[in-house]
Amino acid sequence: MMALMEVPIMDKKKWRRHEQRIEVACIIRAATNGLLYIGVKNKYCYICSQSEPGKESKEHKCYKNYQGTSTGIEQAILVQGFRESARMHNLRYKYIVSDGDSSTYAKIQHNVTYGRQVIKLECANHMVRNYTDKLHKIIRDTVHDITARKELSQLIPRLTKGARAAITDAGDNVSNSDVLRDGLYHVFGQHSNCKHDQLLDGFYFII
Ligand SMILES: [Zn+2]
Ligand SMILES: [Zn+2]
Repeated sequence: MMALMEVPIMDKKKWRRHEQRIEVACIIRAATNGLLYIGVKNKYCYICSQSEPGKESKEHKCYKNYQGTSTGIEQAILVQGFRESARMHNLRYKYIVSDGDSSTYAKIQHNVTYGRQVIKLECANHMVRNYTDKLHKIIRDTVHDITARKELSQLIPRLTKGARAAITDAGDNVSNSDVLRDGLYHVFGQHSNCKHDQLLDGFYFII
């Protein structure tokens, strides 16, 4: 079966403006990268946009199917995708690979019937990126002493490398692991938290 969609022709500039008002999110099978679900939400409707503020617009076929923030839209699409899993693919999704934002996971747990059984896996790439993003944020924050910020910025490559190795080493236990926090102390020369028997731990391995 083929679905036909009526797409109005727009010039590039108009399309760009329109593009900012639509949000797309999808569910992808991690093993194969196959697309399992794609959702599109539209924040814009021409007729609504033409009506005077505060006044109800005339009766029309409204194309706006979502109002809210981009994160909210993304979460709504993913929740919908999880809800549709049985109907579309005759299965339940067991794992979700997290991008470090636990609010999406919470939404799935609360709003999907089998949500409580879904297990969150951390993505090492996302974790390392979040970790270094936070460190860079500290470096940019002029509230902190300049010497300390300079010292931290010199240590970033070491910290990043250590974090990646430690996350890989911790595997699925990484959420319950203190390794990122302890690694920081270690790199700055404070060893009271160090469990030096964990020689495989990324930080101790590298540094
Ligand atoms: Zn409308
Ligand atoms: Zn140490």
